[in-house]
Amino acid sequence: MKYRRILLKLSGEALMGDKSYGIDPVRLQQYANEIKEIKEMGVEVAIVIGGGNIFRGVQAEQSGIDRVQGDYMGMLATLINAMALQSALEQNGMYTRLMSGIKIESVCEPFIRRRAIRHLEKGRIVIFGAGIGNPYFTTDSTASLRAIEVEAEVVLKGTRVDGVYTADPEKDENATKYKNISFHEVYEKNLSVMDMTAFTLCQENNLPIIVFDMNKAGNLSKIIKGEVIGTLIS
Ligand code: UDP
Repeated sequence: MKYRRILLKLSGEALMGDKSYGIDPVRLQQYANEIKEIKEMGVEVAIVIGGGNIFRGVQAEQSGIDRVQGDYMGMLATLINAMALQSALEQNGMYTRLMSGIKIESVCEPFIRRRAIRHLEKGRIVIFGAGIGNPYFTTDSTASLRAIEVEAEVVLKGTRVDGVYTADPEKDENATKYKNISFHEVYEKNLSVMDMTAFTLCQENNLPIIVFDMNKAGNLSKIIKGEVIGTLIS
């Protein structure tokens, strides 16, 4: 096993599957299976899930809603996804804890770093909901920050593309994939991996990121075994 403790970042959009909004139960089950596979290998798993399938702060302004209010709506959207994922994981026999960046005491625990680490040590999957609890941030920044706080060894960014490319592979057929790339090169070439806040946090704290296709069965467990999947940024 290459990693002992990981932070998995899933986008909210990925949860939609083939739908145009909300949560696809088939995709949810698929993710639960993938996560179960690595949990059974003995790895400690922390998860951050986005909210883009339900609401994003930037959408707010288009609807005449205040940006900050919109960001809080986005954070609550991540919590809805986190609750769905928690339920799917538990139905598949895993032990979980949901910790929120915003206090919602009847639903989940508030984020307390020491407690999060304790849960991980006890083998519970910890899902961090409601982002970091502050507007103007993203769930990518949440993933970087929480990974550093709980001393995860890597951020695994599960997306629908299988890595970082020289150009957008959906627009440029000559685009090629990097297996490894340095933080510096990503920055220099202006490649999109995460937003700059999230990316800089990882760079400054020497926390590697692996961008990989979460929708391909077995990818997650291959990464844990040390196989070269997706793109490693270090
Ligand atoms: N958000 C926020 N602070 C945080 C995390 C999230 O304000 O710490 C809001 C922000 O408006 C964002 C939304 O929650 O657009 C949903 O998260 P994100 O866009 O990162 O979800 P994803 O793109 O991963 O689905």
